[in-house]
Amino acid sequence: MAKILDGKQLSERIRSRLKEQLDEQVKRGKRRPFLAVVQVGDYLPSTVYIRAKQRACEEIGIDFKHLKLPEMTSMEELRGAVNAINEDDSIDGLLVQSPLPAHLDEVEVQRLVSPLKDVDCFHPENVGLLYIGQPRFQPCTAAGIIELMLANGYDPAGKHAVIIGRSVIVGRPLAIMMMLKARGGNATVTVCHSRTPDLPVLTRQADILIPAVGITEMVRADWVKDGSIVVDVGINRVPDDTKKRGYRLVGDVAFEEVEPKVEAIAPVPGGVGPMTVAILAGNVMKAAGFEIIYQVIE
Ligand code: NDP
Repeated sequence: MAKILDGKQLSERIRSRLKEQLDEQVKRGKRRPFLAVVQVGDYLPSTVYIRAKQRACEEIGIDFKHLKLPEMTSMEELRGAVNAINEDDSIDGLLVQSPLPAHLDEVEVQRLVSPLKDVDCFHPENVGLLYIGQPRFQPCTAAGIIELMLANGYDPAGKHAVIIGRSVIVGRPLAIMMMLKARGGNATVTVCHSRTPDLPVLTRQADILIPAVGITEMVRADWVKDGSIVVDVGINRVPDDTKKRGYRLVGDVAFEEVEPKVEAIAPVPGGVGPMTVAILAGNVMKAAGFEIIYQVIE
């Protein structure tokens, strides 16, 4: 039986640790941190993610504002809304929820957010700081994956990590973090994508395999090395009439057949997803000038 990398439980522990640190510093006179999330349109999964972020923030004691703009918001209008938050000294962290409607350019929008409030770590300045090994903020999903491994005793140092996916949100920052000469880094990293031929030949060489693709159960048992660590990032919706909401969430890994072969595996749901939100909350506290430690000390 593989060890289950339980992100739900770890995220709860990290959040309660963050809350302790927040309460203690607020008691000493610091103002509560404040996160603003801007949503353009009504895309339902985004609304669900924003609700999860709000719940986590409120539970920790971070003030939260959800600014919902209409689907047809122009770039100029969005710029105005983002600038108003950039200039509002009472707000510490700001993120514009992706995906954006097609008429808005994600990269251009990421540049609008003040780098000092960019708690998603998407602004080019913050990406650059990460690249040189001096991150201001943690890229949320990538850092969540690394904390999930470390907290379970799996240090990527010296291991061959194979990442499937090179997106700016997950694959690319994760590859950088895992190759940095730093805690949670020092891995040998292979990054695969849709143009990679013979993917299973590469994945079978992975000590740590991290699929972040968005294809239901793409990684089969014969794609993984015996005794390896698998961290499934994918979140896919599969129709399921037995569920009230009509679907269930499934990862990029065929869990039932892969689990018996590996040393440890992060499930979907309950693995990486909750970790992402915990790291985001930590970033908001950092943006507000709080001293924080994420690590859960046993
Ligand atoms: P993107 O669609 O931006 O990127 C997907 C990546 O997978 C791309 O690099 C793409 O390659 C690659 N890819 C697509 N098809 C294949 C294939 N057949 N073989 C190999 N590589 C392939 O997605 P995201 O990075 O935003 O998200 C990936 C998954 O992770 C999604 O399921 C998403 O829901 C989930 N996710 C989970 C989070 C969490 O907190 N748990 C947070 C963010 C995302 P190419 O670059 O060549 O197109």
